[in-house]
Amino acid sequence: MEIYQLTAHELKALMERGEVRAVEVVQAFFKRIEQVEDKVKAFITLTPEQALEQARAVDETRREGRDPGCLAGIPIALKDNLCTEGLTTTCGSRILAHWQPPLEATAVSRLRKAGAVILGKLNLDEFAMGTTTQTSAFYPTRNPWDLGRVPGGSSGGPAAAVAAGETPLALGSDTGGSVRQPAAFCGIVGLRPTYGRVSRWGLVALASSMDQIGPLARDVTDCALVLEVIAGRDPLDPTSLPIDPEPYSKALVPQVQGIKVGIPREYLERAEPGVKEGVAQALKRLEELGARCEEISLPHLEPALVAYHIIAAAEASSNLARFDGLNFGLRVSGRDVEEMYCNTRGQGLGPEVKKRLILGTYFLSKGRYQDYYLKAVKIRTLILQDFRKAWERFDLLATPTTPTVALPFREETFPPLENYHSDIFTIPPSLAGLPALSLPCGWSQGLPVGLQLIGKPLQEPLLLQVAYTLEQAIEFRRARPILEVS
Ligand code: GLN
Repeated sequence: MEIYQLTAHELKALMERGEVRAVEVVQAFFKRIEQVEDKVKAFITLTPEQALEQARAVDETRREGRDPGCLAGIPIALKDNLCTEGLTTTCGSRILAHWQPPLEATAVSRLRKAGAVILGKLNLDEFAMGTTTQTSAFYPTRNPWDLGRVPGGSSGGPAAAVAAGETPLALGSDTGGSVRQPAAFCGIVGLRPTYGRVSRWGLVALASSMDQIGPLARDVTDCALVLEVIAGRDPLDPTSLPIDPEPYSKALVPQVQGIKVGIPREYLERAEPGVKEGVAQALKRLEELGARCEEISLPHLEPALVAYHIIAAAEASSNLARFDGLNFGLRVSGRDVEEMYCNTRGQGLGPEVKKRLILGTYFLSKGRYQDYYLKAVKIRTLILQDFRKAWERFDLLATPTTPTVALPFREETFPPLENYHSDIFTIPPSLAGLPALSLPCGWSQGLPVGLQLIGKPLQEPLLLQVAYTLEQAIEFRRARPILEVS
């Protein structure tokens, strides 16, 4: 087995036993990047010099017998909407193409402190708006399982990079499904933590009431390892919860006996036959292992999608008002300040972002607010109630992560409805602030199928335990895309 094929916890064990040095690990991943990146296009920025320097420091610390941290020498790459001090953070947008943040996201500084080595910044849909990574202002990312298909989005760069073996770990952000949907399309594990579990400080905001940072990795153990490091209260983010991170990797015992799993009927019905079959097989396996699966109705699926797009656009229109040519990134001059605003935003932002900002402003405008935003917020309450009712009977819920497998790549932009429907199963837990995870559970048309597990608030340990148990039982873990090496 090559170094680039190993998981983070396998690399950690090798390095701790002194069988391989951090420098060798980092070099192996850059070699892999060199071989496949032309095809996959997952990265926007690569930082080989800094990474090697960090790796050398880890090796040095270890040689001196000091503790280099729990992720010491493990490579990780970051979605490019996570601020990295002094390192370009583009959000996949022309308006920030050369912007170097003066600060670092808390999740990123916690990773650095734990000794993780940052390989670079990853492609995304512009400002995390999308499901294909095709709205990136730079180039689309391809799905490593089939280069003619999309990797999903908006964390398409992170998911593709992990699946292609360019990095064992990545951080993404998930507002309506942007960690879970690309994880499902690329056959890897993606975790959206409970809202508030991980500090949002330094994550460029899309919709502040839903944004969460989450790990993407080859297996559940690696997701648990990353969550342990990035979770926990941060005084810089008042919405971060005052709860200490737990040793999530210790929760990984293969045991699901008696755990009650609800299967929302409406979700399964909407999935295409191959996805439905893959998920049904996984659920059967879960039952054989001792879990008790039972159908349940969660009726507000379609309204959730509509409510999400109203709330997300409204919040985005306010959050992205700061990109006006004054303080951040691109400035295109004009005769007066108003023309400067218009020129800057006109040239700096892409069509999907402009559409959402115009719609969001409209939804919040006087006279329209009651018809759109207020109704959307009421639907959000209905969804919370649906989940609350479900928790009276169940410990967890299980659904397909997406209605389809990875969609074919198209030169023209996707029809918005097809695009938006890709997130229909991931949006309800986002609106309710719940933790949810996508686990690769089988195949359809030769492509990975994702199973979404949804937990009660702050029940990440149980979520990870059930995912881990199932992962051990289904033979997906070692599957890798065949990318011909150039
Ligand atoms: N795909 C969804 C959207 O387009 C979700 C994006 C996200 O989670 N960042 O808004």
